Amino acid sequence: MAEDDAAKALDVVIVGAGLVGSAAALALAERGRKVTLIEPVAPVREQGQLGFDLRTVALSGTSQALLAGLGIDLSDHGQPFSWMQVWEERGTASLAFNADDADTPHRGAPASLGRIVEVSEVTTRLWSRLVEHPGVSVLEGEAVEALQPSVREDDCVELQTAKRTLRSRLLIGADGGRSATRQLLDVAVDARPTGQMALVTVAQFERVHEAIARQRFLLDGPLALLPLSEPKTCAIVWSMSAASASDKVELADTEFAQALQHASESCLGRVTSVDSRVTFPLVQQVIDSFAPRPRVLFLGDAARVVHPLAGLGVNMGFEDVAAVLAIVDRLPLGSDLGGPLYARLARRRGLRAQLMTGLMSAFQLGFAQQAPLAALVRNMGMRAVDSSELLKAGFIRAATGGL
Ligand SMILES: Cc1cc2nc3c(=O)[nH]c(=O)nc-3n(C[C@H](O)[C@H](O)[C@H](O)COP(=O)(O)OP(=O)(O)OC[C@H]3O[C@@H](n4cnc5c(N)ncnc54)[C@H](O)[C@@H]3O)c2cc1C
Repeated sequence: MAEDDAAKALDVVIVGAGLVGSAAALALAERGRKVTLIEPVAPVREQGQLGFDLRTVALSGTSQALLAGLGIDLSDHGQPFSWMQVWEERGTASLAFNADDADTPHRGAPASLGRIVEVSEVTTRLWSRLVEHPGVSVLEGEAVEALQPSVREDDCVELQTAKRTLRSRLLIGADGGRSATRQLLDVAVDARPTGQMALVTVAQFERVHEAIARQRFLLDGPLALLPLSEPKTCAIVWSMSAASASDKVELADTEFAQALQHASESCLGRVTSVDSRVTFPLVQQVIDSFAPRPRVLFLGDAARVVHPLAGLGVNMGFEDVAAVLAIVDRLPLGSDLGGPLYARLARRRGLRAQLMTGLMSAFQLGFAQQAPLAALVRNMGMRAVDSSELLKAGFIRAATGGL
């Protein structure tokens, strides 16, 4: 690409090649759009001491189907799970979800609740496709540094990196929770700190996980044990107060293994080894609008960040991508008439983001209550959901994009 592209108007510029920006770029290029993708740091395959990336996500069937449609077939990677077990520190009731509880199986998706995948495996596969795609110009090592929004509907958005100026008919900000694009456009977010950090690692256990995703709600926050492709190895996502996280991250391996075994109620027996630990601050936030300026859209974590306890974040980001594709499929190539459709997308995605972040806050608050009455109500609620096929199907629909 020439050093100064100011004269040419591009179809789409996407800022950020995380899971969501990369999927959006590939999907739009596959639909004949000329896509320019800006990413300061090319993804690399990460593997810890136990052979797995410490960053994993649970992908829903819908998300896997979206990626498969882009040529990213994950059937040879990760671990599908058909059961999910949820229980809490102060209680006797537990919930078990099974793939059969979902009343609307997803088209083309395997009969499972989801698949635990390593983030760097998916981002590097997407990246390999992107750099070879004739419809994508990848600007690796560059970052968006300045932006002039279009004032009228028929203008283009203009943006600068350190090396060039670009004009585009559509700008997609997919540069994560601390989106520079959002800040440059002065778009507000409603940010609600959770007071929690997520401690993430990989651990080996004495017993096999049987492809069950487990989550125990502790008073300090939920602990998830997510099955990986090695039968005794799980990805750990442990949300806890910032104070506990800074204590736990300092523990030696043996002490941490003991703490993990205790917190998981030895549900998989002894913890036999643990990888290094990393922590992430947990906020929940929703952007003012997914389409805050003419010709500008925000997708993925740049638009909303949701607590990881239900494994929703990237799945909702892929729902954003699918919503954009549904519009693009209706517009002829080169058409600029998507404005009202994008405004409707923004309303719908905004409502879903508010609903799910609200639900996650309610979960977090509800499970943190220590009073015996609160524990009783929670146990009654869990038993009610566990015995009702309808309620279970509703929970699964909410988590996989059907609500
Ligand atoms: C502990 C934890 C566990 C989670 N588990 C799950 C789960 O099980 N299931 C699930 O669905 N979600 C989960 N999530 C959420 C999920 O990880 C995120 O929703 C998802 O990674 C967001 O992807 P993204 O592409 O929107 O943003 P990001 O992954 O943040 O990518 C943003 C990209 O933008 C680039 N960038 C940054 N600044 C600039 C700039 N100025 N110019 C250009 N590019 C820029 C970055 O380098 C990066 O590549 C979890 C999150 C956490 C913290």
